[in-house]
Amino acid sequence: MDISIIGSGYVGLVTGACFADVGHNVICVDNDEAKVKALQAGRIPIYEPGLEQIIHRNVTAHRLRFSSSIREGVDNSQIVFIAVPTPPQPNGEVDLSFIEKVSREIADVLTDYRVIVDKSTVPVKTGERVTETIKRYNRRGAKFDVVSNPEFLREGCAIHDLMHPDRIVIGSQSQHAVDLMKKVYEPFMAPILVTDINSAELIKHAANSFLALKISYINAISAICQVSGADVEKVADGIGMDRRIGRQFLNAGIGYGGSCFPKDVAAFIHISDQLGVPFTLLQEVQRINGLQKERFLKLIRDTLWVLREKRIAVWGLTFKPDTDDVRSSVAVELVDAMLREGAHVSVYDPKGMEKGRELKAVADAKFEKSPLEAVKGAEALVIATEWPEFANIDFAEVKKQMTTPIVFDGRNLLNPETMGELGFHYHSIGRASVIPR
Ligand code: NAD
Repeated sequence: MDISIIGSGYVGLVTGACFADVGHNVICVDNDEAKVKALQAGRIPIYEPGLEQIIHRNVTAHRLRFSSSIREGVDNSQIVFIAVPTPPQPNGEVDLSFIEKVSREIADVLTDYRVIVDKSTVPVKTGERVTETIKRYNRRGAKFDVVSNPEFLREGCAIHDLMHPDRIVIGSQSQHAVDLMKKVYEPFMAPILVTDINSAELIKHAANSFLALKISYINAISAICQVSGADVEKVADGIGMDRRIGRQFLNAGIGYGGSCFPKDVAAFIHISDQLGVPFTLLQEVQRINGLQKERFLKLIRDTLWVLREKRIAVWGLTFKPDTDDVRSSVAVELVDAMLREGAHVSVYDPKGMEKGRELKAVADAKFEKSPLEAVKGAEALVIATEWPEFANIDFAEVKKQMTTPIVFDGRNLLNPETMGELGFHYHSIGRASVIPR
């Protein structure tokens, strides 16, 4: 199939690369000229494991190319995917101006029948708006169908998620559009759920909100474990072994972040309010998530007494491992909070340093070249992102480098017993602290 994708970010670029890899001809379009030039020159603007190889392979095979022209994309494809940002506004409402703009731009160049597919995460009923907008601005009366096809990939394992999806949701009123979409996804051999557009749009917000709810649920339990002497990891194992519940997303920590969960929960709260059926359960999910970070900061303050002038090392800036994405990262929020309290913070992240350096919130932190450099002279180490490589560091060496061996493990990455044996003061989430005598 001939496909174009408008918006070449974390979703658009990975989707385009995977579509090309299964044999489609793909044009990835972006209005960021510098990004397009970089891609055309073979430089990949984001870090996602395996992405670079797939892009190079498919560019060489002439199945994938990049452009800054929506006209070029629309003219040369049967199906046009939209994967532009849908960022939150301060009141939680989704900013749909990117979607509206792209709809007008598509309308402007549309001459023949095309399937216009929304892959961005949007509020229910957005498809209706996209349809109206394209009709209004397309003066030639060209035929088209609008489809909702929400994306469920996780950054860090996006290629795997795209190549082996649990399900593909196709929301459309048009059988012809559904048939074309099924052809696009045929090579992936995944279960396909066909719905109306509104249901498809709602599925995405409902799914992400449920996952956020699961995280807040175990985080609320971690607080109970902390004061009752229970171990949240054991409790999570015990709950998760029940197949009706499952162990995934039951990892206690300093809360969810990133460019999806916080925004999608806020959006779903706003959408349900607008529809007159407030989803108050989700307000509690949000509140617990914020509390978790505050509780962790309080633990750090209670232990170190005063943060001013303290040297604190932070491992991790990205919102999760295996990505360079630092958008709405709790790690960044923690560094920001400690800097505001006057601490000297040194940070290290395996892939998030470049994007981290661009953030005002952490501009006063010292960016170090390695985890060991970061802990030199530190009075405490905070683990803010669960990069697997942090677990394999020589902690005897870490202890040697630190002024006082205190560790706050915000992701329960390390083993409390081992840390105690090495002589660390070790604090984690929902597990007893280890304080050597
Ligand atoms: P992103 O910011 O990484 O990428 C968006 C791209 O769109 C950018 O490169 C930007 O330059 C481009 N763009 C903006 N306006 C444009 C226009 N008018 N014409 C052409 N290009 C334009 O965003 P993302 O993380 O890929 O997210 C895109 C959508 O997918 C959002 O709705 C998001 O909620 C959703 N989503 C994201 C993820 C994720 O893990 N990142 C997962 C599922 C769904």
